[in-house]
Amino acid sequence: MKTAIINSESYEKHNTGNGHPEQPKRVIAIKEKLKKRKDLIWDKPDSVPEDILSMTHSKDYIINLKNSFPQKGLKFLDGDTVVSPESKKAVFDAAGSTIRAIDGIEKNQYKNAFCLARPPGHHAEKNKAMGFCCISNAGVATNYLVKKYKYKRIACVDFDVHWGNGNYDVMRDNKNSLYISTHQYPFYPGGGTDKDKGDFNNSLNIPLPAGTNSEKYFNAFDRVLERLAQYKPDFLIFSAGFDAHKDDPLAQFQLSSKDFYEITKRTLTVTNKFTAGKVVSILEGGYDLNALAESAYEHVNALVEFN
Ligand SMILES: [Zn+2]
Repeated sequence: MKTAIINSESYEKHNTGNGHPEQPKRVIAIKEKLKKRKDLIWDKPDSVPEDILSMTHSKDYIINLKNSFPQKGLKFLDGDTVVSPESKKAVFDAAGSTIRAIDGIEKNQYKNAFCLARPPGHHAEKNKAMGFCCISNAGVATNYLVKKYKYKRIACVDFDVHWGNGNYDVMRDNKNSLYISTHQYPFYPGGGTDKDKGDFNNSLNIPLPAGTNSEKYFNAFDRVLERLAQYKPDFLIFSAGFDAHKDDPLAQFQLSSKDFYEITKRTLTVTNKFTAGKVVSILEGGYDLNALAESAYEHVNALVEFN
């Protein structure tokens, strides 16, 4: 069975304004590179069931969010989270791409899936949009896996260079999930220290200093692998941000594109025997277009190879 890419043209119409790093060219750059491969299935998002949305975010927040898209021009939901008229479809498609990915895997249409989506999601908390993010897409995926398919041990590995405060907020009280993050610290958005263990000791946060290179990163990543081996997840989610790349303009890690192949490979080598290879990966950050496209390509390479 093949790896699927879940993608929608709506992502290219989510306008965040001139000069915004979270721009349409991000998904276009990755798409152009992945389209050269002939071994992928391309599919489109489904809609997110309302009950799953309200398991993930507060009802008030979802109502506010739905009403916050402007008729014209740009609107700021926080200092750097910008939406425009066509963003509404992109926001809900991004969350809905995880629904299609999970259903496709469960129906044996594909082995695993990469959601080539924007806006990203891992900073969106239960009650607020933040850091370019409106909905915790990984949170939606986790809740859908629990509610619809009765999964009990869902691991989310978030290798974006920023701490996924939103994913943490959404998953911290979910006994059926384990949220793991490696990230630059101290750094935006703050938090994500050893003290953030989740409500049921269901989170592992590994803060690392600016300048972290491949060797230091993979030494730390052994702790991620160890925890995954103990946890024995029945489904794996990646919050796949590629802004830990050395060329990324927003952060100061020193990873290479190939390191994202390695992160993915090492993770799947541990988890596949428990998950039967079931993986949904969701695009988060990554702001240098070349580094982003190369790194995402390497990540997908490993999803194809180790499925
Ligand atoms: Zn990031």
